[in-house]
Amino acid sequence: MIFPSKFSPLYVGPSRAVILGEATLHGLIEQIKSNLGEKAGQSFLYQLGIGIGQWVYKKYSSLTTDDINDNIKLLAAFCKGVRWGEVIDYFIEEDKITIRIRDLWECDIQKDIVNEPASHLVRGIIAGYAMKLFNHEVIVNETMCMAIGDPYCEFEVNIIK
Ligand SMILES: [Zn+2]
Repeated sequence: MIFPSKFSPLYVGPSRAVILGEATLHGLIEQIKSNLGEKAGQSFLYQLGIGIGQWVYKKYSSLTTDDINDNIKLLAAFCKGVRWGEVIDYFIEEDKITIRIRDLWECDIQKDIVNEPASHLVRGIIAGYAMKLFNHEVIVNETMCMAIGDPYCEFEVNIIK
């Protein structure tokens, strides 16, 4: 059997990307939770996500303006570009942003496994991104989740001032 020696590299915007399949993602989440315990594992994934979200902002924010709408649209384009899910709606209020994502990978792979909102890594990524955007602490809660039967996942970004 002959395979090409080098497949085409994948890019998302100007940055090199890799594909992590379901087995990798499942293994990552399960291993963290089984080693640290359910709650500590969730907290670890959230903290890990914050670091990733801050890097996403650093890497891509030069592509847009300082406008909040534009930055949410950039996050949505990133999510779609890396196939994490589709941002279908968002609402901006004084100290809160609500983001709805359909087919979020992290929750899709945990359907029928969990009985509460399942996103901790992406929830943290949204938090890290928002912390950089607003230059403030934020808390992100997942208030609806496809893993427990909701039609989409909904995240509330609360800006702590
Ligand atoms: Zn979810």
